[in-house]
Amino acid sequence: MKIAIMGAMPEEIEPLLEYFGDYKSEKVAGNTYYTTKYKDLDLVIAYSKIGKVFASLTAATMIEKFKAKKLLFSGVAGAINPKLNIGDLVVATKLCQHDLDISAFGHPFGYVPEGSVFVESDKELLKISKDVAKDLNIPLQEGIIATGDQFVADEKRKEWISKTFKADALEMEGASVAVVCEALDVPFFILRAISDSADMDAGFNFEEFLESSAKNSAKFIIHMLDILAKK
Ligand code: SAH
Repeated sequence: MKIAIMGAMPEEIEPLLEYFGDYKSEKVAGNTYYTTKYKDLDLVIAYSKIGKVFASLTAATMIEKFKAKKLLFSGVAGAINPKLNIGDLVVATKLCQHDLDISAFGHPFGYVPEGSVFVESDKELLKISKDVAKDLNIPLQEGIIATGDQFVADEKRKEWISKTFKADALEMEGASVAVVCEALDVPFFILRAISDSADMDAGFNFEEFLESSAKNSAKFIIHMLDILAKK
């Protein structure tokens, strides 16, 4: 089975490339896609660049061109839920776009006609992640992830996103990947390790914790592959 593993920034996929060691690379539409084998799995790995548009292009390319049958996203996020501390892992149960707004026409935030506010993650991949967390004795929180084309470093915006979508964490790619995967009928899984708390200190914390948090997320994804390979 071909599995896609995606990040937004180089730091999010570097720990994976380092772990797999031997891979081929191919450039498509401005991004580099790395292919390798792990146990009986074929892998395609790439970072998209930051934001929803680049993330959509990469997810669609991994599915349409590289024929990925499942997609796992590994990356970092800002925490909304105060239970989430820097370094903690959070997996999305469902995702929304916090900056999608045609509320002037009476629609809810995050909604456009023929779409839905939330896209739900694949139940089987969620179950596998719970098993992995148990096996490794690592705390893994489930929650709602809100995505938008902005780095949130502002208490007011964070509060608004929290209140409007009941979101637990926020980032800049997850929901767009979810929309693409749902439309193309590919099960997906969005994992994020907390790099900051989307507040005044977010910029500093992000810089400091990006690398270590990205590694936490990548390590967890590798353990998920071990289970997927056994199936
Ligand atoms: N420092 C980078 C920009 C990082 S943007 C540069 O200068 O190039 C933040 C990235 O991490 C995005 O990919 C996003 O998905 C995630 N992220 C982490 N914390 C976030 C926050 N508080 N708000 C939005 N995205 C966040």
